[in-house]
Amino acid sequence: MKPAPFDYVAPTSIDEALSALADAGGGATILAGGQTLMPLLNLRMSQPFIIIDINRIAELKGVTRASGGTRVGPVTRQADALADATLAQHVPVMVEALSHVGHYQTRNRGTVGGSVSLGEPAAEMPATAVALGATIEIRSSKGTRQVPADEFYLGPYMTVLEPDELVTGIIYPDWADGHVTLFREVAQRPGDFALVGMVGALELSGGTVSRSGIAWLGMGPTPIKARQAEAALLGKSLDAIDPLAIAELAVADTAPFDDHHASSEYRRTVGRRIFTRTLREALGLKEAA
Ligand SMILES: Cc1cc2nc3c(=O)[nH]c(=O)nc-3n(C[C@H](O)[C@H](O)[C@H](O)COP(=O)(O)OP(=O)(O)OC[C@H]3O[C@@H](n4cnc5c(N)ncnc54)[C@H](O)[C@@H]3O)c2cc1C
Repeated sequence: MKPAPFDYVAPTSIDEALSALADAGGGATILAGGQTLMPLLNLRMSQPFIIIDINRIAELKGVTRASGGTRVGPVTRQADALADATLAQHVPVMVEALSHVGHYQTRNRGTVGGSVSLGEPAAEMPATAVALGATIEIRSSKGTRQVPADEFYLGPYMTVLEPDELVTGIIYPDWADGHVTLFREVAQRPGDFALVGMVGALELSGGTVSRSGIAWLGMGPTPIKARQAEAALLGKSLDAIDPLAIAELAVADTAPFDDHHASSEYRRTVGRRIFTRTLREALGLKEAA
């Protein structure tokens, strides 16, 4: 299958890309790593009038420290982010999650911003952004806005992005040095999208949980924040934490679906198990007698 005909531009600056988006009047699609868009074009499931290729915009690449956080350019390759020392130091759970995104080959081309913008409910990067409380920077020729990641996703592959808007940065807030990271996913094969997964971070001070951020992947139409579990963990001393009870609260916030990969009941059951195990292991808690 070949894509339907389209015009193509490859701007070298953000402003150039924004004016191309504005001129396209809603008929443009942005090309980043193409790991999802190219198959969609070939299958003619996406038929834009014009493709705006953002791979030549240097301003959109790289990892930098911003005040109180780490900024990731959307056209940062997943493989580069996986090997990035600043991310390993400041956003370690993102690096752990990245190692589960696709394959070596797809990560060499796929971008962090492409995954965040696509909004696949079973993807690692959207859930990581939601769990850590990241902010998505969005620009158009009309201006710039910052959207909290947990307000960015509206449904499967649906986000708050307007047709003339571009994601220009993802900002991950700092978590205390030595914070606890939580990540586990179950997929049919390594590199497949997760059937169920969880990602998060906890800060401990004086042996109690002082900050928590946890989200699910593959457990609903969007990345799902485990709000009840986060609230239940706050202020708890480690010996007072019952991982299974917290897992029950976490699953209660989900809305998993049935599909040809797995039933919603399977997802809940596996979700409960991986949440309990991951929390127990991360906090060094003993198995309940
Ligand atoms: C075999 C295979 C396995 C995979 N497994 C996984 C997996 O396990 N987990 C996972 O998360 N992903 C997986 N993927 C998806 C892939 O890794 C990328 O994450 C995904 O394709 C998005 O990144 P991209 O840079 O390729 O974006 P593209 O395909 O170029 O774009 C994706 C969408 O995002 C839009 N977009 C891109 N950048 C921006 C921006 N800056 N602003 C606004 N909109 C933008 C595009 O217009 C398009 O609609 C897999 C892909 C393949 C081919």
